[in-house]
Amino acid sequence: RALNALSAGNRTIVHEVEENALLDAMCRVVVEKGGYACAAVSYAIADKDKGVVVKASAGNDHGYFASLTNVTWADDDAGQGSTISAVIRTSQRCVVRDIESEPRLQLWREALLRRGWRSKASFPLIVERQCIGALTLFTSNANAFDEAELALLDELADDLSFGISVIRDRERKNEIERIAEHAATHDLVADLPNLGWFLRHLGEQIQKARSAGEPLAVLFVHLPRLHELFEALGYEAGNQTIRVLAERLSLAHQMLHTVARVGFDDFAVALPHSDFDTASTVAKEFVGSLQIPLVTASSKIDMQVAFGISFFPGHGDSPDVLLRRAGIAARDAARKGLSFATYQGASDRESPARLEMAADLREAMEQRRLFLEYQPKLDLATKRVEAVEALLRWRRSDGTIVPPVQFVPIAEHTGLIRQLTEQVLEMAIRQQRQWLEAGNRLPIAVNLSARNLYDPRLLGRFEGLLTTWGVPAELIEFEVTESALMEEPAVAKALIASLRAKGCRIYIDDFGTGYSSLNYLVGLPFHALKIDRSFVIQMKHSPQARAVVESVISMAHALELRVIAEGVEDQQELDELRQMNCDEAQGYFIARPMDAAAVVAFAHKGRTA
Ligand code: C2E
Ligand code: CA
Ligand code: CA
Repeated sequence: RALNALSAGNRTIVHEVEENALLDAMCRVVVEKGGYACAAVSYAIADKDKGVVVKASAGNDHGYFASLTNVTWADDDAGQGSTISAVIRTSQRCVVRDIESEPRLQLWREALLRRGWRSKASFPLIVERQCIGALTLFTSNANAFDEAELALLDELADDLSFGISVIRDRERKNEIERIAEHAATHDLVADLPNLGWFLRHLGEQIQKARSAGEPLAVLFVHLPRLHELFEALGYEAGNQTIRVLAERLSLAHQMLHTVARVGFDDFAVALPHSDFDTASTVAKEFVGSLQIPLVTASSKIDMQVAFGISFFPGHGDSPDVLLRRAGIAARDAARKGLSFATYQGASDRESPARLEMAADLREAMEQRRLFLEYQPKLDLATKRVEAVEALLRWRRSDGTIVPPVQFVPIAEHTGLIRQLTEQVLEMAIRQQRQWLEAGNRLPIAVNLSARNLYDPRLLGRFEGLLTTWGVPAELIEFEVTESALMEEPAVAKALIASLRAKGCRIYIDDFGTGYSSLNYLVGLPFHALKIDRSFVIQMKHSPQARAVVESVISMAHALELRVIAEGVEDQQELDELRQMNCDEAQGYFIARPMDAAAVVAFAHKGRTA
């Protein structure tokens, strides 16, 4: 009978995908195919009362299992006589070959005999090296369970344990994926969809509008006083207010809209089938709904709101342009004290000033006035600086330094980014030549923009520079943002694969802010994820952000990727990250970006310290 139960049990394990269903099916198989009088699975409850619950049973037990309400696996009287608790305590099987004559069974003997049960055996269920409960079988003959039978039943219990751990593993993986997907598409603090999500969503809406020949409006909501509000009321109340606002906005005009948080004090919503009239009605209604003051825990808030509106197809046909123009309109409205404004053609942001900056940048590149600073990446296990990131700076002729956030986007817009990246690569590779000669080994990571990934010349230029300067490819690494990867995944994939094949490590930058699909990450030879600074900042205030960082780390480890946290600004953050098993960290607390000589000295100090 044990053999029958074992082989039928194996089939059951393969077929069940849910834990309770598996336990039920297993008990049934043992009774129906194995011919045991009764079978049950009990789990230990891991709390201070050390209770035991019967999770599944089969066979006619005449209410026996229901009557077992106060069994414990504690080492006391109630726990002593039970085979189940003995199994849980010791992780060893426990067999009573003759119920009638077993002295330890006094509490239960009569109840068992009344049901015609004469022998019983309990087997440990070991999941992740821990005994989680027992499988118990009853027979109606005494002196059952000889060694041969027990050996087979041990195997049956092992199989069941394995089945349970497979199911739990799968559930945990699904959960991690779910959390990571959510983190990648949401602003965690306000729990609203984020910029990445919105751009993708807007893209889909534009497609629909285009094929239906309908207009579409983008409503941009700017809250100029949100900073003040956070300062005055604190995080909790601030976030609460954001959620209330988002709720009102999504209900405005009797429609359910999805509001995304696209910046700290900026929100956006896409209004399908909306022309100028509909969009301004929604805006007015919403302004109206704000006249009812927002009441949070302790105070009434007077929120200023400025709306900006842009239209497809009138103001553009790409998500990026429509959102940007709606944003420009909102800020115009705020400046003029209006509650809403429609985009009015090119205003200062798409202005001559930017074109002028592009011209200056071109000149700066020719005159080689761009230079690199290097920021160390600290390996948390070895406590050494194993690599650095190159960050670009522009020294104007008057000596002022322009940060990359001011000119990299312009380079991206105007197409200058190709030459810019080539210049950065050249600077990094020349630097490596100098370091090689001085006996220093410190890989440099270079940031790539989206456009670089789709530049067919990049790989050849890179190879040429390596050859010219005699630098091994392993000394150059690349950082690529998720959103850049997702623009044209197939093309990006090809370049990443070639760079990786040369021996360059690839980091996914700003992880969590884009809209990557995890499936995509699995297929590419990345070395590490860089958790975006915004998560590190939020960890202190938001347990949810901590949980996300933690699960991103374990997900990455499951995919055999390393994890590096960026923007670490104090000891507490560093300690927490270390506890979470983060592999590397970067941030002002460790070191600011610095020049080549300083970064070598810094790395050296770490090595000898
Ligand atoms: P990123 O790749 O995320 O680089 C990290 C930025 O965060 C750097 O700003 C760095 O100085 C800053 N940072 C590092 N630790 C901390 C910290 O603890 N706290 C705070 N608040 N900030 C920290 P930076 O140098 O201004 O660069 C900004 C962005 O410009 C970079 O973001 C990157 O996207 C872009 N960038 C910089 N150099 C290049 C380049 O050579 N090529 C391209 N395509 N983009 C570049
Ligand atoms: Ca970077
Ligand atoms: Ca980054």
